[in-house]
Amino acid sequence: MALPKQSEDFPAWYQAVVKGAELAEPSLVRGTMVIRPYGFAIWERIQQAVDRRIKETGHENLYFPLLIPSKLLEKEAEHVEGFAPEVAVVTQAGGEKLEEPIVIRPTSETIIWATYAKWIQSYRDLPLLYNQWANVVRWELRPRLFLRTTEFLWQEGHTAHETAEEAMAEARTILERVYRETVEDDMALPVRLGRKSASQRFPGAVETLAMEALMRDGRALQAGTSHYLGQNFAKAYDVKFLGRDGKEDYAWASSWGVSTRLVGGLIMAHGDDAGLRLPPALAPIQVVIVPIYRTDEEKAAVTESLTPAVAALKAAGVRVRTDDREEHRPGYKFNEWELKGVPIRLEIGPKDLAKGEIVLYRRDLRQKSPVPLEGLAEYIPGVLAGIQDELFAQALAFREGRTFRPSSYEELKALVKDPGGFIEALWCGRPSCEERVKADTKATIRALPLDPAPVQGLCIVCGEPATELAVWAQAY
Ligand SMILES: [Zn+2]
Repeated sequence: MALPKQSEDFPAWYQAVVKGAELAEPSLVRGTMVIRPYGFAIWERIQQAVDRRIKETGHENLYFPLLIPSKLLEKEAEHVEGFAPEVAVVTQAGGEKLEEPIVIRPTSETIIWATYAKWIQSYRDLPLLYNQWANVVRWELRPRLFLRTTEFLWQEGHTAHETAEEAMAEARTILERVYRETVEDDMALPVRLGRKSASQRFPGAVETLAMEALMRDGRALQAGTSHYLGQNFAKAYDVKFLGRDGKEDYAWASSWGVSTRLVGGLIMAHGDDAGLRLPPALAPIQVVIVPIYRTDEEKAAVTESLTPAVAALKAAGVRVRTDDREEHRPGYKFNEWELKGVPIRLEIGPKDLAKGEIVLYRRDLRQKSPVPLEGLAEYIPGVLAGIQDELFAQALAFREGRTFRPSSYEELKALVKDPGGFIEALWCGRPSCEERVKADTKATIRALPLDPAPVQGLCIVCGEPATELAVWAQAY
């Protein structure tokens, strides 16, 4: 199957990869998707990598219901306003019209904080460091598999603290440790961390922190967010505690999430014209072996030589599969595993066997080289580690090559259009300038510095004194 070229039609390329690599497909209700086993196996590995770090940083998992009384959602004004356009509501159930409509969670701050009101009375009850793995529903008018779907899978962390500083530190720990480490170390994807401008904040948050990754079409993907919520939800749901000083105060909050959208980011950041390129840390199959033979004798010899090699690879912790399907020729198999992004392909036929060799193909470099069959299980883990590093290095080099510092507004507009990427430019902090850039170029501010420092210079849009260095990009 020939894929559209990335450089010619990136969206068509993306769709063809998602379909061809059997990751997911649209389902019957608009915007919903079926995640197929290969796509789900990738998500499971991301999920496990995030979950491990959530637990390492002292959090516990729990579970709240899918259904939320609609009255509850209305209590935090900004929150309900922000989510109103995308909320799905159940008005009928059990064969009857419901007296009070029920909302299908678009996120769970409301039900969780209504419950925290019962769990928090004293500073001794704090902090609460909880996370849940769940599905949420946000009605999506322009769906795209993994990137924007009406129902998606995610984790949402919801923490409660004694002080503002603690809640802010929590939001930072999640972003800088849990999320960045997962995305950079496991997904091999470099991210820029930063604060969001007021227009891009989560509804109800005081500050939204986010990580942004650059896709190969030059557009940014928000890969995860971590919010400092101040006391907004505690006030809306009356969550007060008796402090160490004997005074009553509202609890301070954070919330944070990453979703199946990360799978879309993985595809668009590493994929090439031949398909997916999976980082070994997340690849469901790290090594695929394609035996090559014409006669039964050749088949027997090749198979015999492979049996101990496969056992040794498995024992070394390598996720290996032998593609011994009789109905497909080797060339077909090569294309299929290439499309599916398997990091290493091993080919072995009678000629290789005679030399005691196996041909190793690296998906990241698209290079073949013979390696000794002897000691294969000791050799492969090092190659996998090298591929993991190479994919990160390539993504980082791409991002650096696509990060620009224009000296005029005209130049900024031109760069957003061609070639696209992260555009660093000074900003005065005024929403009007942000809106103008958006109207002119569709680019938005993706990140402001996590730790704001004074800047000298003028806003690239209006020429007034600037307050911050902003990173702009067109985004998914
Ligand atoms: Zn300005």
